Amino acid sequence: MRSSAPALEIKNLRKTYTRPAVDGLSLTIKRGEFYALLGPNGAGKTTTLRMVAGLLAPDSGEINICGIDARKDPVDAKSVMAWVPDEPMIYDKLDPMEYLEFVAGLWAMDASRAEKQAHELIEILGLTPHANKRCQGLSKGMRQKVALAGALIHDPELIILDEPLTGLDAASARQVKEVLRQRVAHGTTVIMTTHILEVAERMAERIGVIANGRLIAEGTLAELSAQAGHCESNLEDIFLSLTAAESAAA
Ligand code: ATP
Repeated sequence: MRSSAPALEIKNLRKTYTRPAVDGLSLTIKRGEFYALLGPNGAGKTTTLRMVAGLLAPDSGEINICGIDARKDPVDAKSVMAWVPDEPMIYDKLDPMEYLEFVAGLWAMDASRAEKQAHELIEILGLTPHANKRCQGLSKGMRQKVALAGALIHDPELIILDEPLTGLDAASARQVKEVLRQRVAHGTTVIMTTHILEVAERMAERIGVIANGRLIAEGTLAELSAQAGHCESNLEDIFLSLTAAESAAA
């Protein structure tokens, strides 16, 4: 691992099903950045992130995570990142605290550090009243928060989240945003997909827009506005203008 290397560097990534889902995508995300990946339904966001997380083999291209070649050294790459899918899986028979202890055990974490981290995550995510109830009895939103806590327990350098706020109530969404903000403030990198454009607008330092498996625009809100021809000022208008231009060109 090289500390000067970007948190994520993707070069010319490709995955084709019946047609290209990810079509020569290149992206560089710096350490400590909060990056939102946006795109219309079917743009290739989840396919991209699943390849980065090592859950799907690319047809071609390069993926480097904190300087680790993820295709050559997938285990090392996984050790520095966390992946939170849109439909997380947790162990129903365990309670949230047991689940976090179990995940910490998989990472061979020191028991007292694991316990401290688990308590902190349970508290900040508002799970304290449910910490000792079996996960099978928890609501979808609570389960999502348990899965997030499990992904964060080993202090990953890169956190990748696919639609983390979908289905969360306002209080839970705020707790999740707060956890992510705190991590970024401590130098962790966060990449997330979202269809909630105000979240991207408020939280992300840079935004990438993909359509048809290709990066069509990237930058700060001001830079995206410039790319959309300065006609639009809010992200929803900018996003619709950029993606409409792309579908007209496709
Ligand atoms: P959404 O915002 O709707 O979640 P997305 O940007 O995450 O969309 P992907 O799920 O990555 O998009 O899908 C990209 C394209 O790849 C779509 O055309 C989809 O139908 C196709 N695709 C994804 N997974 C498969 C699969 N397992 N088999 C065949 N086609 C697939």
